[in-house]
Amino acid sequence: MAGHAQWPVIWGGMPPFADDPRRACRNQNPDLFFAEGEGAKRNTALAKTICRRCPIRDECAAWSIPQASVRGVWGGLTEPERERARNGPPEAVTGPPRPKQPSAATVRTTQTLAVIAHQIAEGLTVDEIVALSPHNRKTVLRHLHKVRDTTGLAPPGFPKSPGVAA
Ligand code: SF4
Repeated sequence: MAGHAQWPVIWGGMPPFADDPRRACRNQNPDLFFAEGEGAKRNTALAKTICRRCPIRDECAAWSIPQASVRGVWGGLTEPERERARNGPPEAVTGPPRPKQPSAATVRTTQTLAVIAHQIAEGLTVDEIVALSPHNRKTVLRHLHKVRDTTGLAPPGFPKSPGVAA
């Protein structure tokens, strides 16, 4: 029976995590990881399920991906998947990049614009909004333009068309 138990025999070397007790494949049937013939698809799917809950999956994938001679499922990846990871972009393994978190400055600006929109809804004038703001008049006007362009809200007397100074 070929399998993870025969690592040294198959490749003449042990993965660095071979004796790691956390390895989720430790007491599993090795045939799942080196599936062949009838039931191979199902066994491979089961092996990948085991890898998904393995705490050293990243380490295992990092070890196996560069080694073209390694067979079977490692780090939750089949041979073709590891080949794609070797030759393709990082997304081939990790999926599309996660959306970036907004910066602190973006969050602050969003909060400022929300406050201004609220002040406009309350009926405050441009001068009153400027007086209440920690920013100078020029910055407040810029914010007012942004609020108007994105929400349609504008204080009394504020120009309706973009780009016209108050
Ligand atoms: S990721 Fe999969 S193959 Fe690698 S040690 Fe864990 S269970 Fe075994």
